[in-house]
Order: sequence, then structure tokens, then C-alpha cells
Amino acid sequence: MTISQLARANVLALEPYLSARRLGGSGDVWLNANEYPLPTAYQTHAGNLNRYPACQPPGVINNYAAYAGLSPEQVLVCRGADEAIELMIRTFCEPGQDAILCCPPTYGMYAVSAETFGITRRTVAALPGWQLDLAAIEAQLTDVKLVYVCSPNNPTGNIINPADLKHLLEITRGRALVVADEAYIEFCPQATLAGWLADYPHLVILRTLSKAFALAGLRCGFALANPEVIQLLLKVIAPYPLSLPVAEIAEQALSAEGLVLMRDRVAAITDARRDLAQALSECDCVLEVYPSESNYLLARFTPESQAFKALWDQGIILRNQSSQPGLEDCLRITIGTKTECARVITALRALPVAAERTRGEVL
Ligand SMILES: *Cc1c(COP(=O)(O)O)cnc(C)c1O
Repeated sequence: MTISQLARANVLALEPYLSARRLGGSGDVWLNANEYPLPTAYQTHAGNLNRYPACQPPGVINNYAAYAGLSPEQVLVCRGADEAIELMIRTFCEPGQDAILCCPPTYGMYAVSAETFGITRRTVAALPGWQLDLAAIEAQLTDVKLVYVCSPNNPTGNIINPADLKHLLEITRGRALVVADEAYIEFCPQATLAGWLADYPHLVILRTLSKAFALAGLRCGFALANPEVIQLLLKVIAPYPLSLPVAEIAEQALSAEGLVLMRDRVAAITDARRDLAQALSECDCVLEVYPSESNYLLARFTPESQAFKALWDQGIILRNQSSQPGLEDCLRITIGTKTECARVITALRALPVAAERTRGEVL
């Protein structure tokens, strides 16, 4: 037998998640991974690396609980929100039996994590406007243990209607958990479901330091849930999920000073997003710019502009969303620095547009 023949069948069949990093490219304007465009300054003093770290460092847990308005028993810290997506599956789904459900177009890791563990992935396409198709979801709930909902949704940028989320929580009560991915919630803090945990024992909220906290390289994320769920996740998580330097930096990022810096970044990105949306809507190669509550914009381009490749060739790397259902000719653009946004607009203005096409026309 070859080594490949020894691998699990579902791993051989798996299409791995193509992260922005894996997709590569070479350039000097990186707007494809929803990172914060500038580095942040943190100090680590971790000296005693001969000792293992705490599984759940109290300084990180307590600071995050205070920030989220929850008790420490409702917080789990892990290696990025991506690990939390996977921990949910490993904790709640029986391979070959249970399913997860998600609503594309959305974040790709829910499906990839499920497939890695041999869990059926069921999809219910979002409605126009990228809201939940609740009737179709309800009809598809048999064997579903986890429903992943991303709000604000990546890559579309919209918030899921709170009334629909309530309805989803009602139809799943006693049957499945609802995992609300709030990776971008700092850009619209009023939309968090954290206050709903008291009413819904089957609600789990995912958070991260990778976006508004400008720490994608740190690899630190959180699951917020009722203590019963947290205790189950703690049975499955690795014994030492965070290294000592990670815990030390996360604690600083979540201190009072850290939160002030985060909120300043959010305000600056929100301003820059408004300016970029306006400038994009004035480009002839742009058909539509969708409203966004996050640190990125989704826009639909004229097919003939070949915008993704043209900018890629100039070292401006955006995220092509064309392969997602309903997102033909759509690109996701992370809000960068003012200079980076200006580079995007200058490059787009130079692109060819078919003579007969008028702006705003819907294909
Ligand atoms: C970026 C992102 C994540 C992953 O966050 P990490 O903490 O960096 O693993 C999860 N969900 C969504 C929707 C994201 O956009």
C-alpha cells in the first residue's frame, strides 16, 4: 500500500480550505485576508518556558469575560476561532451519523472542518440579501447537530436579522446547537448575541483576536457559551492550546488600554470603509458595492474588467469570491490603509469597460 492509500477516504476526497496565505500571490498591497493593515506593538516577557502553560490562562479568560459582559465560566480560549469551529464538531458530532448545516455564501471552514471529521455537511442557500431561509433550514434539520451562522457574514458583510436568529434558536431548541460566528462583531458591537446566552442553552458564539484586535498572527480565539457547553469543550481541547507568549499578549490586548486601541482601530477602519465604498461605486468597472458592517467590502465587477487578475498582476491582492453561489464576478476587499485603498481605486479606474455598459446595470 502506498502512504496515500493508508489515509482516510474522506481526507483523500477533501478539498482543503484555500486560505489567503495558501493562495499565494506576490505583491505589496495585501487586502485578501481581512487582517488589520498595520502591526501592533506588544511585549512578551515570558521567561519560564520550561513550564507548561495553563490550559485556560485566568488573565485571558477574566479579561475576555469582562469585555464580553459574561462570567469566566462562559468563556473558552483556544487557538483562533478556527479551532473553536473544529472543537464544536469534535465535541458534538458523531462521524457517519450527524450533520452540520451552513448557509452559503459564507465562511468556508465550517464545511472543511466537518468533512475532515467525516461529518455530513448540509447547505441551505441564503435568501436574496443573504438572510436565512428559515423554512428550508427547518426542513433540513434531521440529524443536524450544529447550525453555523456567520454575522456579520463573511464574505457578504451583512448582519443576520436578529428576529431570524431568534426563530432559528427556537426551531433548534433541544435538537441542535446554533454556532454564531462573530469574528467581525467589534465592527458592529450592538449586533452581538452575547446577551442571549441566558435564554438559549444551545447558543455558542465564536470570537477572535484576528480581526479588530489586529492579531491574526497570534492565533487566539474564543467560544462563548453556557457552562455546560464550555465544560464539554474542555474535555476535547488540547491540554495546552495557547503558548505562554500568546496568553501574555492576549491578556494585554484585552486590558482596558488594549480595548481603547481596538476601538480606535475600528473607528478608523469604519471611516476608511465608507470612503472606499463611495470611491468603488464611482468606478465604471464596479456594478455594485454591498453594504458592510465589517472590515471588508464585497463588490460585483463587470466580467470584462477582469479586475481580480489585473490587480493581482499589479501586486494588489484581493479575494476572489466568484466560486461561491450567487457571487459571480464578486471580489472581497479588506479595508487597508488610506494609501492601500487609493492604490485599489487608481488601478480599478484604469480598467477597460465595455462601451455599451452603463454603471449600475444589473446582469
Ligand atoms: C477570520 C475568520 C475566522 C478565523 O478566525 P481565527 O481566529 O483567525 O482562526 C473565523 N470565522 C470567520 C467568519 C472569519 O472571517
